[in-house]
Amino acid sequence: MSTPNPETPAASNFVREIVKQDLQTNKYQGRVHTRFPPEPNGYLHIGHAKSINLNFGLAAEFGGKCNLRFDDTNPSKEETEYVDSIIEDVRWLGGDWEDRLFYASDYFDQLYAWAIELIKKDKAFVCDLNAQQIREYRGTLTEPGRESPYRNRTVAENLDLFERMRKGEFADGARTLRAKVDMASPNLNMRDPVMYRILHAEHHRTGNKWCIYPMYDFAHGQSDSIEGVTHSICTLEFEDHRPLYDWYLDQLGVYHPQQIEFDRLNLTYTLLSKRKLLTLVQEGRVNGWDDPRMPTITSIRRRGYTPEALTNFCKAIGVSKTNGSIELALLEHYVREDLNRRVPRVMAVLRPLRVVIENYPENQVEEMDAVNNPEDAAAGTRKVPFSRVLYIERDDFREDPPKQYFRLSPGKEVRLRYGYFIKCASVVKDEKTGEILEIRCSYDPATRGGNALDGRKVKSTIHWVSAAHAIDAEARLYENLFAVENPNAVPEGQEFTVNLNPNSLEVVTGCKLEPSLRGAAAGSRYQFERLGYFCADPDSTPEKLVFNRTLALRDTWGKIEKAQQGKA
Ligand code: ATP
Ligand code: MG
Repeated sequence: MSTPNPETPAASNFVREIVKQDLQTNKYQGRVHTRFPPEPNGYLHIGHAKSINLNFGLAAEFGGKCNLRFDDTNPSKEETEYVDSIIEDVRWLGGDWEDRLFYASDYFDQLYAWAIELIKKDKAFVCDLNAQQIREYRGTLTEPGRESPYRNRTVAENLDLFERMRKGEFADGARTLRAKVDMASPNLNMRDPVMYRILHAEHHRTGNKWCIYPMYDFAHGQSDSIEGVTHSICTLEFEDHRPLYDWYLDQLGVYHPQQIEFDRLNLTYTLLSKRKLLTLVQEGRVNGWDDPRMPTITSIRRRGYTPEALTNFCKAIGVSKTNGSIELALLEHYVREDLNRRVPRVMAVLRPLRVVIENYPENQVEEMDAVNNPEDAAAGTRKVPFSRVLYIERDDFREDPPKQYFRLSPGKEVRLRYGYFIKCASVVKDEKTGEILEIRCSYDPATRGGNALDGRKVKSTIHWVSAAHAIDAEARLYENLFAVENPNAVPEGQEFTVNLNPNSLEVVTGCKLEPSLRGAAAGSRYQFERLGYFCADPDSTPEKLVFNRTLALRDTWGKIEKAQQGKA
């Protein structure tokens, strides 16, 4: 995995304890072998990052292996686009499967042979009930199910019908192959579950070879077994499937890995469900799977999150047996913490206001020394040009300042970061509209670098960009995609999309950046001083850079933490 910050506190992780114990008792002859098994029916999201970190992280920690396996048993929803994106995302998160990239579809022949074996053992039968009838026969949590009228077919008849299912003699849904387990079981998954269904659909890898496809439960454990997986780690909703996982492996008498369930990641203000994310894409609520507001891995990468921040976050939240919800602010805290340590700081003005320094020589340009990252001495310094006409942030000037406003206003003096002290002399306005066009200032040559020789102080330091040297840019500022803490809570009769935040994207054009940003490659990350963390977007052109704001600077989680420490 990505190298985490050594200072990140590790929360409890009961799966690690199980693995440790199994190593002590030599349960798998010292082997640790996990897998990450995505279904290629959408892009990976932050929830998957938790599973990736757990599976690949355990393998790395204990000198084991972790496979990447596509759980591609449902041809109708799966696409190669998703396979490619998943491979890219797992790699970006630091997952290394070496040469073990597998597909459940690799095992279709073996699974078919195993199905025949179960038929021969009278443990499986071909059923003619349709999906609706199967549901009716299944019973409920409080009532046992009823046996299918087709349950007592002979082995020979089952073999014949299953063979003909495979050959394509029957329509979709006309028949299924079902396991013969126990219709009275308190666990609904054990009431003669479907093993194979008929689906005349082209598969992204096996093409038209098959028109019957195994169900997840019949494919997953056997795939684990074939690959020699030791710990098959999945989310809690599979807990009720574990008896079936075990049943298939026991009936077949093959190598038997253990399934362990952990809690799914839920984040406030965020939806982590591929199905719902697909809806947002299909309905055009966002600009595609990689819209930086989405919680997909591809989106947060584009937005500027780092894999290390995700690893630190996953380490900090740990793994448990109860589903809960994690504050989005905690994830953002780890992103800021990582970016703060690593990315260079630069000056950028999002909403420029022209400043003319009247006593500064017309054609003079000075190269000011600026520190790249005060958190990282090795990052060094750079030169930033200073000249007579600058841009500052519109917000950093008030003609009529309220009390406690310490930035620039008529007659007030402020420090320009790495520059000089300036004082505002007058304001130039559009005569018709009253809009402020520029402000006129004077500078004190004895304050070069930002300190007055006479020791006088100013209350505020603001950032700036030299107008003649500035580069044009567009900034995309984001708020939470959803306006409510739990986007899954939807008023009766409405769709989850009612919870979308209408202000989640603000596009600011006409931004001005310091010249060191010229040609910034897509994906390069910066801190724009006082404004937040930003990442260059692939939409950038040679004429205009485009930056995504990863996050603003204010760390609400850090604040909560400090307040709590203060109370303690
Ligand atoms: P979704 O509901 O978003 O479609 P899924 O569970 O169907 O998710 P899979 O592709 O089957 O997605 O998931 C691959 C692996 O990632 C599984 O082991 C699954 O348990 C795990 N996983 C999926 N979502 C989360 C989550 N929110 N937190 C932790 N692990 C997750
Ligand atoms: Mg799934």
